[in-house]
Amino acid sequence: MSPEAPKAYRVLARKYRPESFAALIGQEALVRTLSNALEMKRLAHAFVLTGIRGIGKTSTARLLAKGLNCIGMDGSGAETLEPCGDCEPCTAIAAGRHVDVLEIDAASHTGVDDAREIIEGVGYCPVSARYKIYIIDEVHMMSKSAFNALLKTLEEPPEAVKFIFATTEIRKVPVTILSRCQRYDLRRVSADMLEAHLQKICEKEGITHDAVALRTIASAAEGSVRDALSILDQAAAMTADKLVGDAVNDMLGRPGRGESLVILQATLDGDAATALAQFARLHKNGAEAEMVVTDLLNIIHQASLVAAGADLADLIENERPGITALGNLGIAKLGRAWQMLLKGHEEVSKAPNPTTAFEMLVIRLAHTANMPTPSDILQKLPNAPHANVKDPSHATKASVASPATSATLSYTPQKDDPAAHSTNSGQMSGNGGQQQAVVEETLPETEPHPAETAPAAPPHLEPTTKPIASLADIADLAEAKDEMLLAARIRTHLRLVGLNPGFLEVALTEKAPKPLIGDLAKYLTKWTGQRWLVSVSDGPGGKTLAEERAEHAVLLRNDIAETPLVKAILTMFPGSKIEAIKPINSKGCSENLHGNANNEPEMNAVEKTE
Ligand SMILES: [Zn+2]
Repeated sequence: MSPEAPKAYRVLARKYRPESFAALIGQEALVRTLSNALEMKRLAHAFVLTGIRGIGKTSTARLLAKGLNCIGMDGSGAETLEPCGDCEPCTAIAAGRHVDVLEIDAASHTGVDDAREIIEGVGYCPVSARYKIYIIDEVHMMSKSAFNALLKTLEEPPEAVKFIFATTEIRKVPVTILSRCQRYDLRRVSADMLEAHLQKICEKEGITHDAVALRTIASAAEGSVRDALSILDQAAAMTADKLVGDAVNDMLGRPGRGESLVILQATLDGDAATALAQFARLHKNGAEAEMVVTDLLNIIHQASLVAAGADLADLIENERPGITALGNLGIAKLGRAWQMLLKGHEEVSKAPNPTTAFEMLVIRLAHTANMPTPSDILQKLPNAPHANVKDPSHATKASVASPATSATLSYTPQKDDPAAHSTNSGQMSGNGGQQQAVVEETLPETEPHPAETAPAAPPHLEPTTKPIASLADIADLAEAKDEMLLAARIRTHLRLVGLNPGFLEVALTEKAPKPLIGDLAKYLTKWTGQRWLVSVSDGPGGKTLAEERAEHAVLLRNDIAETPLVKAILTMFPGSKIEAIKPINSKGCSENLHGNANNEPEMNAVEKTE
């Protein structure tokens, strides 16, 4: 071969594969832990390396294999984290031809036979090295039976055998395997570190660049060294080794997360124009609307984590200020944006023209961004949080408790109870451009009574010995005896005319089923142990329980709509309406309305109100 013959081009990611732990960038914690384990002679039989793609798992595995088998130049070295790289085992492992170091890609060898092959080999001593080492890449891809076969070996591994597993999806590796491994997590490499790494390589390779270009590549790589080097490779080839930021951006042709961040920031600032202009630019470069929405959702998720006080360690540096700023918007606004985006994602993916759908989504989001959240309004209203506590007349009016139906609402603020409070939560949902405010008025609770509310028709689990004094008692009894259909029919079709122990007189609705009366007499007699006579009257009778309930719901809704706080919210959000009325417990959460076995507390609440 003549010296002028062009050398085969080696991609940068391969050329700059780290040859020592010192050259492994961004994994200082891992190296420290490994070297501690080595010093204290606590190296396990099996290691599992986990982290995102292209972060150095396979490099680490090979380095570890070298370190375990390196004998040094004089042939007398022991295990080390600084393999010499020149001894026979080191060079053989680097070239991938050492007989005792086997690399298996589980993605292509997933069967139980492969695992059996391994196990059969495990029995033999290493041919020439100190340890026989199995490197199993993408170990999560192994089949269940392969894992089982492997597990037996891991339980009692021969002295001179080591396993090094690498995986991007640690959750798919069975716990039984994991519990027998030392686990090492490789971290995402920060954008700053990647940028410095790229800088060094550019110098060595004679690639000129501006600052934006390297930062763009470092950011696009999202913490993966291999991705960073692949993008650099591609960009250098495209620009003949003269990297310029704009060209790199164009080449990437996808919304950099930084650009998506700009769109989101502008949108949540209510600045639709800037957001749309930014999107138009991205779109011109080939970015797809759906991809951008996914990005925006992802960013909102991270910002919400920040708002909730989560650790920022995994954020990419140059995004940190932007995401932190978004986090400051607060969970209420971020949650509202999340819901709109989630719905928008569906719209964009189904729309005949996704670009138009995306633009509509941005406009809607920006429009809503300027609207206060219900809690903002609450802050602005003078004395709002106590508005209905200070006005007991409202509370009394709204308390539409009825002993007859025992459908009551614990809406009973006590004048001197400092715990009595009213909070408010709400959410907006964008619906085809039409704004709909869902306002949840939460009601002060009279602790310690569990709450119940009329519109939700909670089941009443009364003790069956309770005397029957109303139609509701009978319906409740049927329900307690698991006769749900009968209970429903009693509520819907019976109008009370008269009731004495052992005698019930009712009028029927037009649609009442024929056997209802006979069934009722039979069951009442059976349940109470007393003979019951049920007669049908021609008279009009009272309202059915269902009608009463519906009426109460309307009354309650009207009363709540008249409270100062809700009235203000309804005025400030034109077109908004009360969607649901729920009681809250002392922690400010909505109560589960079911499973309220004791009706007594509500009765007390009613007495106090009256
Ligand atoms: Zn060596």
